[in-house]
Amino acid sequence: MPPSSATTVAVVGGGILGLAIAREILQRRPGVRVQVFEQEDRVGAHQTGHNSGVVHAGIYYRPGSLKAELCTRGRALLRDYCAEHALPYDECGKLVVAVDGSELDRFDALEKTARANGVPGLRRLDGREIAEVEPHAAGVAALHSPHTAITDYVAVCGSLAGEIESSGGEVLLRREVTAARRRAGGIEVSVRHGGWVEQHRVDQLILCAGLQADRLGARIDGDPTPRIVPFRGEYMRVSEAKRELVRGMVYPVPDPRYPFLGVHFTRRVDGSLEVGPNAFLSLSRRHYSRAALTPRDLAATLSWPGFWRFSAEHWRTGLTELRGVLSVRSYMESAQRYVPDIGPADVRRAGLGLRAQALDRDGSLVDDFRIHRSDGITSVRNAPSPAATSSLAIAEYVVDRL
Ligand SMILES: Cc1cc2nc3c(=O)[nH]c(=O)nc-3n(C[C@H](O)[C@H](O)[C@H](O)COP(=O)(O)OP(=O)(O)OC[C@H]3O[C@@H](n4cnc5c(N)ncnc54)[C@H](O)[C@@H]3O)c2cc1C
Repeated sequence: MPPSSATTVAVVGGGILGLAIAREILQRRPGVRVQVFEQEDRVGAHQTGHNSGVVHAGIYYRPGSLKAELCTRGRALLRDYCAEHALPYDECGKLVVAVDGSELDRFDALEKTARANGVPGLRRLDGREIAEVEPHAAGVAALHSPHTAITDYVAVCGSLAGEIESSGGEVLLRREVTAARRRAGGIEVSVRHGGWVEQHRVDQLILCAGLQADRLGARIDGDPTPRIVPFRGEYMRVSEAKRELVRGMVYPVPDPRYPFLGVHFTRRVDGSLEVGPNAFLSLSRRHYSRAALTPRDLAATLSWPGFWRFSAEHWRTGLTELRGVLSVRSYMESAQRYVPDIGPADVRRAGLGLRAQALDRDGSLVDDFRIHRSDGITSVRNAPSPAATSSLAIAEYVVDRL
């Protein structure tokens, strides 16, 4: 049941999830007082503003999972939202390519998953048909998803924030939520702003803190699981001379042991073409330079038993990824299997994103979205890709349960 109009709701996090949820509440109950607290000086400053900009069509996710359900609905909602608000949205389509016969078992399994999820317009292509869609891509088979799209998620955040404010809500920047305590008749939220700590009394609290989700959750709910382990994903930008060699997106067949989709070619709404992101352990959750190290963040990773269990199992993959971090040539080796005409000399480094990857105590990567709710506090504990695609559907899901 959505909150009544006398209710005050605080949302922590001005990423796409916090903003989508705040907007959804205001749409359903216009009189509710909604405040979004964002610690940075702008919305979409972290994962949402450093992602690939892809609107996924549901190819990868286990049928019946929250990811499968909310990605499918979220894509349709986002497409309509972008049309309604004149935001960039380009259905440039995606190919998932098997480069040789050794990948066909995984490829067949992926096709089954995509069909079970009802990916619209999905076609299986042979090597010759691949060239009709992407003349410079190489492979023995591909799945073509013509409705996979690209957008500008920061522009979507700007639009959501505008709607929140025009509906009477507030998006409060440079406000870090440091604690919250349940009190008789409500929840008291402590918010650091400048040199001061303000206290806000609210009825409902919604935590969408991304890379800080575990920290804030542990402080407020007392539950430290799952732990967020940050993974950096570096992008390369393709030179103007070569960027027209890929029309839409070209992806590898993903390894089912990892939720990351592998280095791929992605078109951006500004017409540029990027390769990436890879996935390697980050030593910071908040800083984006290649050498960034935040001792507190590193300590949080190293003190988590799940991290050591995960590392013991996957150190070989880690070493392969490290080669790509250190050398553009190694990075491009894997990408060139898909588009041989774009090599190391055709790209330059183009920034990185930090993924909030949730890791359970036993070392398993949490794959599905994880959203807890108890006594007036809703906590989004795991919202990796495709959470940006799914954001408007996640908002419906959360507000249905308030
Ligand atoms: C490299 C990369 C590529 C990706 N590609 C795609 C893609 O193509 N398509 C897709 O659908 N998804 C993609 N994703 C995933 C997607 O970006 C995220 O799932 C989504 O942005 C999560 O949104 P969020 O609002 O939960 O998190 P965030 O965008 O990280 O927002 C969380 C916000 O909370 C704020 N915050 C944290 N703690 C506090 C506090 N104590 N007080 C106040 N504010 C606080 C932070 O400053 C931040 O702004 C990608 C992610 C990455 C990193």
